[in-house]
Amino acid sequence: MRYLSTRGSAPSLDFAAATLAGLASDGGLYVPEAWPTLTTDEIAALAGLSYVDTAVAVMAPFVEGSLTREELRGLCEAAYGRFSHDAIAPLVQLDHDQWLLELFHGPTLAFKDVALQLLGQLFERFLRGTDTHLTIVGATSGDTGSAAIDAVAGRAGIDIFMLHPEGRVSDVQRRQMTTVGAPNVHNIAIRGDFDTAQALVKAMFNDPGFSSRFRLSAVNSINWARLMAQVVYYFYAAVRLGAPDRAIAFSVPTGNFGDVFAGYVASRMGLPVAKLVVATNVNDILARALTTGDYSSRQVVATPTPSMDIQVSSNFERLLFDVGARDGPALGEQMRGFEASRAMRLTNAQREGAAALFVGERVDVDGMAVAMRGAWERAGQVIDPHTAIALSAARRHATADAPMVTLATAHPAKFGDAVERATGVRPPLPARVGDLFEREERFVTLDATYEAVSGHIARHAVPRG
Ligand SMILES: *Cc1c(COP(=O)(O)O)cnc(C)c1O
Repeated sequence: MRYLSTRGSAPSLDFAAATLAGLASDGGLYVPEAWPTLTTDEIAALAGLSYVDTAVAVMAPFVEGSLTREELRGLCEAAYGRFSHDAIAPLVQLDHDQWLLELFHGPTLAFKDVALQLLGQLFERFLRGTDTHLTIVGATSGDTGSAAIDAVAGRAGIDIFMLHPEGRVSDVQRRQMTTVGAPNVHNIAIRGDFDTAQALVKAMFNDPGFSSRFRLSAVNSINWARLMAQVVYYFYAAVRLGAPDRAIAFSVPTGNFGDVFAGYVASRMGLPVAKLVVATNVNDILARALTTGDYSSRQVVATPTPSMDIQVSSNFERLLFDVGARDGPALGEQMRGFEASRAMRLTNAQREGAAALFVGERVDVDGMAVAMRGAWERAGQVIDPHTAIALSAARRHATADAPMVTLATAHPAKFGDAVERATGVRPPLPARVGDLFEREERFVTLDATYEAVSGHIARHAVPRG
C-alpha cells in the first residue's frame, strides 16, 4: 500500500516510511492511496474472531509491502498482550440498544493505548537493523502523552519529547508521564494551552534546519498507523452487534478527530456504519463545522474533559481530503489559509460529503454530569467525563433502526474528581497503576516560544547519523 499526502506535493511513501515520518514534508497528512474493502462475506467471517485475529484481518491490506501477515500478527500479540481485559475492547450493555465499547484496558487507562502500543512495536520493528535514531516530538492534552511514553520507554534508538500544557492535564495524566524513569523520556510542561503546544510541534517539523538535524517522528494521531489501529475496534464491536446484516451507529468523544475518523475509514472499507456522532464539549469547532460549515477556531476553554479541549482538529484535514475529491493542491491552499486566519468555510462538496455520515453534537458540563449520573444510577456503570459527553450525544441521536455504541475512551479513575462530583462515587485506580502517587516526577517547564522549546530539544536529542 502506498500513502499520499493530503496536500499533494510530498512524495508518496510505503507503510513503513509513512509510519516513521508521521507528518508529510508538505505539511499534509498521509492517507492510503485507495481504501481497501472487505466483502460482506469477509466481514461476516470476523464474527467470533479474537481481537488480535480481527486486527490482522482488518490491518493486513494497509501494511502490505512492509510486513507479512505473520509479522503483523506477532506485533499485535505483543501490543495487546499488555491489556488487562482478555477481550481488549469489551462491549457493555447500558440499555436496550445503547452500548459502551470499553477501550481503556491498556497500560495507561485510555483508548490511546490501543493504537500506541502497536505503534511502539512498529517503530522498533522498522528501526531494527538500521542505525537510525528517532526523535519523537509530540504534544498532548493528556492521554496521548502517557500512552506514547509507555509505548516507547526504554526502547533502543528512540528518544521521546512530550509537551503538555502546564496545569491543564489531570494529576493522574501528568504523573503517568512524569514518573516514567527511562532516560529516553523527556517531559516538557509548556506555559500555554494544548493548541499552542501542538503548534510548536508542527513548527519544528516544518523547520528545515531542525528537521534536517534530527530524524523527527510523530506519535500524535497525525500518524497514520495510529488511525489504522483504531479502525479495528469498529469492526470488532459491529460484528458482535449484528454487522454486516445490520448497520451500527457510533458516538465518539472527539478532540483531534482521529478516533472518529477511524470509524469513517471502517465505513469506507465496507462496514455498515449507520452514523458517526462527533461529540464535542464546549470547544465545539467540529460540531459547528459539521452543522454550519464554519470551521473557525476560538479561544480554548478548559473543561473537565481536557483531551477534548481542542480548537484545531488535525485529522479533519484527512476527511476534507477524502470528501473533497482528493484534490491535494486545492486542500493545501485551503489549509494554509486556515493556518493564517484560523478560520475557513467548508466547500459544499466537503459539507455534503461529511453530512452523509457525520453529525456534530456539543455537550456542556451539565449535560456531561447528567450522563455520568444516569449511567451510574440506571446501569451501574461509572464512566469518565469524556465518555459521558459522547453518551449524552448518543442519547440525543438514538434511532430505532441501529444499535448505538458509545466509545468509552478513558478509565473513570483517570478523572476521579469529576466523576466523584457527578456521581458521589470515587473510582479506585486499578492496582496495576497503584503506586503512581508515590513515584518521583521528572519534567522541565518552558515558555511557549519556539526558541525555548526547540533549543531544549536540540540540546538533548541525538542528531541524525
Ligand atoms: C484523545 C482522547 C479523546 C479524543 O480523541 P481524538 O482522536 O483526539 O478525537 C477523547 N477521549 C479521551 C479520553 C482521549 O484521551
